[in-house]
Amino acid sequence: MNRTARSGPRSFPFQSASLQRPPSSALRRLSRSRNSCFAFAACWICARCYLRCYLHHLQGGEVETFAFQAEINQLLSLIINTFYSNKEIFLRELISNASDALDKIRFEGLTDKSKLESQPELFIHIVPDKTNNTISIIDSGIGMTKADLVNNLGTIARSGTKSFMEALSAGADISMIGQFGVGFYSAYLVADKVVVTTKHNDDEQYVWESQAGGSFTVRRDTGEDLGRGTKILLQLKEDQLEYLEERKLKDLVKKHSEFISYPISLWTEKTTEKEVSDDEDEDKEEKDEEEGKIEEIKDDDEKDKAKKKKKVKEVSHEWSLINKQKPIWMRAPDQITKEEYAAFYKSLTNDWEEHLAVKHFSVEGQLEFKSVLFVPKRAPFDMFDGRKKQNNIKLYVRRVFIMDNCEEIIPEYLGFVKGIVDSEDLPLNISREMLQQNKILKVIRKNIVKKCIELFNEIAENKEDYAKFYESFGKNLKLGIHEDSQNRAKLADLLRYQSTKSGEEMTSLKDYVTRMKDGQTDIYYITGESRKAVENSPFLEKLKKRGLEVLFMVDPIDEYAVQQLKEYDGKKLVSATKEGLKLDETEDEKKKKEEIKAQFEPLCKVIKEILGDKVEKVQVSDRIVDSPCVLVTGEYGWSANMERIMKAQALRDTSMGSYMSSKKTLEINPENSVMIELRKRVDVDKSDKTVKDLVLLLFETAMLTSGFSLDDPNTFGTRIHRMIKLGLSIDEDPSAVADDEGDMPTLEEDVDEGSRMEEVD
Ligand code: ADP
Repeated sequence: MNRTARSGPRSFPFQSASLQRPPSSALRRLSRSRNSCFAFAACWICARCYLRCYLHHLQGGEVETFAFQAEINQLLSLIINTFYSNKEIFLRELISNASDALDKIRFEGLTDKSKLESQPELFIHIVPDKTNNTISIIDSGIGMTKADLVNNLGTIARSGTKSFMEALSAGADISMIGQFGVGFYSAYLVADKVVVTTKHNDDEQYVWESQAGGSFTVRRDTGEDLGRGTKILLQLKEDQLEYLEERKLKDLVKKHSEFISYPISLWTEKTTEKEVSDDEDEDKEEKDEEEGKIEEIKDDDEKDKAKKKKKVKEVSHEWSLINKQKPIWMRAPDQITKEEYAAFYKSLTNDWEEHLAVKHFSVEGQLEFKSVLFVPKRAPFDMFDGRKKQNNIKLYVRRVFIMDNCEEIIPEYLGFVKGIVDSEDLPLNISREMLQQNKILKVIRKNIVKKCIELFNEIAENKEDYAKFYESFGKNLKLGIHEDSQNRAKLADLLRYQSTKSGEEMTSLKDYVTRMKDGQTDIYYITGESRKAVENSPFLEKLKKRGLEVLFMVDPIDEYAVQQLKEYDGKKLVSATKEGLKLDETEDEKKKKEEIKAQFEPLCKVIKEILGDKVEKVQVSDRIVDSPCVLVTGEYGWSANMERIMKAQALRDTSMGSYMSSKKTLEINPENSVMIELRKRVDVDKSDKTVKDLVLLLFETAMLTSGFSLDDPNTFGTRIHRMIKLGLSIDEDPSAVADDEGDMPTLEEDVDEGSRMEEVD
């Protein structure tokens, strides 16, 4: 039987990608030292100068010290001084950064091959060093220029830093760090000191070093040449030496980083027993070991020769490839377990939780691609941060990663869907500009949207899951309704609302339709600030009385979505607060209404005269039962709620308000005692002075109950205060009234009269 033993180089081949090739860096280093010896040899006259030059020489240049940006500094203190149980995530974060850096150089290499020449192999190496208690993560990625080092690792604030600290203090887990874009600092979970050596094609090699404590240093590096890429060396804390263990590292990579699409190799130590004959030259043996010669040990039958052999332990090093799986999307879906999908999802997204749902599919025919799409359990903390484009689909072409933020592959409203697309048809060197007009990509996009909607429908089969999904991503669906006319109808099926009949549950439009009353042709809804604000709204009085269900649309985005949706399943969506609400009536009812209208015509006229251009029209209402009046808006203009939303927008275009803002119609309730009384008074005397002030008060109250805000709340307040005084029978100082209201009618006198009249009655 043949047995083979392979010995690797004794020193750590940091930049060597090949499994057996020893590093040539030692030689390079030597030659560099020789050259620079001349530099300080000239300074021999002055000992101090000599020393400074020598240090300078050793360090490869000036050492610059930088202070960490304040929030990063706080984060570092938190990481160092708080007890966290799952420190192991540091490795995932550093490997993920390495993978990103490799993605970047591979992408650049697609259009300019020469960029890869500095280090043609793309790899991630992990090197534990038990002698020095360090662990190094080395990648041949894009590397960092000096400016990148200073900016990315310490001086430029990131939005995620603060958010992450807030999340931590609210009980978030440290493993969430990657989602907030500050994963690098997780190195300090296990290390006292971190040294980052990096080489970018456009710059020299630099070293960043910090033991936290407020600052870091950056200097030119004359040490081992990386070629291109980054080496992160962690000086492990004394109680974290478990991360030097091969088994531990292998398990961690398998657990968190198995689906990284670059080879991750661990520098492993191997002890083999070897039989050598006594008379063999020991020196020769050692030499062979160092050169990594393959030793063949042959069985020997000769007894006397066997006697002369003895066993010796041989320690060798070699690279061991840890992530051996082929890309998950290339495997058959029925061969993949839920755990494998979850592991892939986590490695893809840095999420600490599993996905909510997954869809793995391939499209064949004229165009071929494979895809795995995931829906996360929650929305990211910055989902609607306008500065950050959410796009989480990675584009591959024939297994080669092309880009992360391929905007053309999925519409913005589906930015929360994560996953990969691997196309067989796109060219490898496709540029962003080409992507924009690419027909293949348009077809892929169409298919992706279709599959996403299918996936959401699958989630909807489980009520609990769908409630979670809808809470996180309902807004996105509504944005889709607004933006995606092609898929509007399908997206409408996914909408859920609470309603006058749904209790605490949510109802779909489909279910609403099944509950529609005989003869009901429209779907009714009301928009407003909150459920509380709308459920007792006067606008719903008649609808409720007739048993007609009304949907509560209380998300600001509903206003936008419903403007586009207009109808569902052939039924018109009708707002309870706008004109155009027509309820079915019998002939008798119609006749009666006409009579009432005629009776109230004079009052309507008087009210319109009093309110002037505050309202467009005044008419008898069809929708209120208890309240005296409401203000409705035009069918196609803004609702009261929309006006509120627009006013709240700091950067709104104010010119729009002039033509979109609500044209109000005051609708009065002919059955309400206040209106009946007002009508009586107007019938007797059109210029009854009581009426004017009461109408103004009713109008302002209707503004509030109809969801508007008052332009002049002070006048309203004054009117109310007078009412209170009246209620308490406090005499008003007439001079104060004159000052206050000028020529306004004196409400208290008038109402006083009225109340006295009632008392007499
Ligand atoms: P994130 O990776 O989410 O942006 P990090 O805190 O992990 O946040 O890293 C900060 C930045 O440092 C990265 O965006 C990247 O520019 C740079 N960086 C970190 N690690 C590497 C690496 N191995 N190679 C190149 N650049 C890196």
